[in-house]
This record gives sequence, structure tokens and C-alpha cells, in this order.
Amino acid sequence: MSLNRLGGRTKFERVRARYEETEKKCTDCGYVDQEGNWVSETDGSRIVYRHTCPSCDAVREHTFELGEEPPSR
Ligand SMILES: [Zn+2]
Repeated sequence: MSLNRLGGRTKFERVRARYEETEKKCTDCGYVDQEGNWVSETDGSRIVYRHTCPSCDAVREHTFELGEEPPSR
């Protein structure tokens, strides 16, 4: 992992935490994932936040280019 290169790791962790707060409910089947279970990963140029529904396996992703500010709310 190259998270150390992000420099703003705390900020990106906050974004992930926000998805765990605001996007618990699966848009496909309506399952509410109380655990959150959003994961973040980076390939060095992008960071991807991903959630896989434990009920129907629907995948939601939010991708940001590194160097770009994540949305502020
Ligand atoms: Zn689902």
C-alpha cells in the first residue's frame, strides 16, 4: 500500500467514514449494512471507496483522483 504518499490520509479516512454513515443502505435490495464495510484502496493515482452488499453483492464505488479534493460534504 502507498497510503503514506497521500499526505492527506486523515482526510481520506474521514471520507470513508462518511460513506459508512450515509450510504449504509443498498440501492439495489434495500439491505441496511450496520457495519458500514466501506473499504478504500489506492493504486497511486486514484483512490477508490468500495462497498459490497452482504445481501445481494451489489458493488458501489466512489473514485477520486489523488490530488483532487474529495467532496466536502
Ligand atoms: Zn443489496
